[in-house]
Amino acid sequence: MTQEKWGQLKLGLLKTVGQSNYTTWIEPLEFEQLQDGVAVFNVPTNFMGNYVSQNFADVILYELNTAGEKVQRVTFRVSANSTAKPSPRLVSEAPKAVASVESTVSTGEELPAAPLDTRFTFDTFVVGKPNELAHAAARRVSEGGPVTFNPLVLYGGVGLGKTHLMHAIAWELRKRQPELNVLYLSAEQFMYRFVQALRERKMMDFKVLFRSVDVLMVDDVQFIAGKDSTQEEFFHTFNALVDQNKQIIISADRAPGEIKDLEERVKSRLQCGLVVDLHPTDYELRLGILQAKVQQHRDTYPGLEIANGVLEFLAQRISTNVRVLEGALTRLFAFASLVGREIDMELTQDCLADVLRASERKITVEEIQRKVSDYYNIRLSDIIGPKRLRSYARPRQVAMYLAKQLTSRSLPEIGRRFGGRDHTTVMHGVKRIEELKVIDGQIAEDVEILRRALEA
Ligand code: ADP
Ligand code: MG
Repeated sequence: MTQEKWGQLKLGLLKTVGQSNYTTWIEPLEFEQLQDGVAVFNVPTNFMGNYVSQNFADVILYELNTAGEKVQRVTFRVSANSTAKPSPRLVSEAPKAVASVESTVSTGEELPAAPLDTRFTFDTFVVGKPNELAHAAARRVSEGGPVTFNPLVLYGGVGLGKTHLMHAIAWELRKRQPELNVLYLSAEQFMYRFVQALRERKMMDFKVLFRSVDVLMVDDVQFIAGKDSTQEEFFHTFNALVDQNKQIIISADRAPGEIKDLEERVKSRLQCGLVVDLHPTDYELRLGILQAKVQQHRDTYPGLEIANGVLEFLAQRISTNVRVLEGALTRLFAFASLVGREIDMELTQDCLADVLRASERKITVEEIQRKVSDYYNIRLSDIIGPKRLRSYARPRQVAMYLAKQLTSRSLPEIGRRFGGRDHTTVMHGVKRIEELKVIDGQIAEDVEILRRALEA
């Protein structure tokens, strides 16, 4: 390795270790020689040699190897005729011992992957309007063809199938291209690995590991918001993989732009790819999922009968999330088989009383009006009152639209709650917002945020 090359590598290290570490510890290093896989650096003091070898040897080793140098070990020694200058912050010591560190480059055979759930495949994923886009994008990525959008970001509320889709992608890729290195883990596990690597001074192993995957999936990325060094490392990992054209798949519980305390640069990276939204389930999707689950339960409970209307009733009443829906069905089956009865409405009501009560919470028009006025920072009376100013009229229409969507009130009933307005006024407002949602991204987003807040 030439001095010149070391000079370039050194600058690369600036990015990894940060300016102040760089000035204190890396800048003063003087490249001496590279022989038999051992790179020797001169350091001005013994103290510094020890410090650098303990804290930065792995990063240096990693940087050297990434740049194509075959190095197994880096050594720091204090040489008598060294021109290496002690960094200004360090007290100079008498030159004597040689500090060395031994590290080997791990090729990442042992991937810290989280186990995949065997039930979470494409076969068991029921597709409906609310999730069809996310499903299509997941399918595309799972074909393992050329990377067309990077990253793929799947976002949506709890229990809507994000983890299911990610596992399905991983299973499919494993089947189609077993040679690919597919890594699935939660953002929490990513952080845990990162902290552990820091603690055990194995950052290089960590970096090598994460940069050697072909497909990286990080679930629930909102978890790293506010955790600065993890975000920083995530950002570097992310960039390194995107540079190599490796597919990245991310999930989050809300749109990247809405994740509080997530660094701007991370947000903007996430938004560079394809961002798709899993919408809350609708009645048809819930019914479809229930029917699919019944089929799956048939093997476990042969001869089980379900009376007409039970699944429809559940799909109607349990609209929170799919996990709750599944749990309800499982309990119903277990209960029915224990008592040896058919699953009818009576048994359902008995067995699921608590679940049904919990999901009974109904959104009221008044609640919608309150949330909407808060959101647009206007008074409740302005939403209900007669003012025709655009700054009141638009929020009012949004509130009418949400009232129509989220409650079972009729148009005249809604009109009455908006200061006695006529039902045609309500109808006009609802129509207007439907039109605007298509052409005005801001309105679409406002409505979406409000709907989520109300349904939470
Ligand atoms: P999230 O990660 O979005 O919180 P999960 O992927 O863990 O949600 O889904 C919660 C449960 O609901 C899982 O058991 C999953 O299999 C099931 N589920 C969600 N969506 C669907 C769907 N469209 N079809 C079948 N099962 C689904
Ligand atoms: Mg999940």
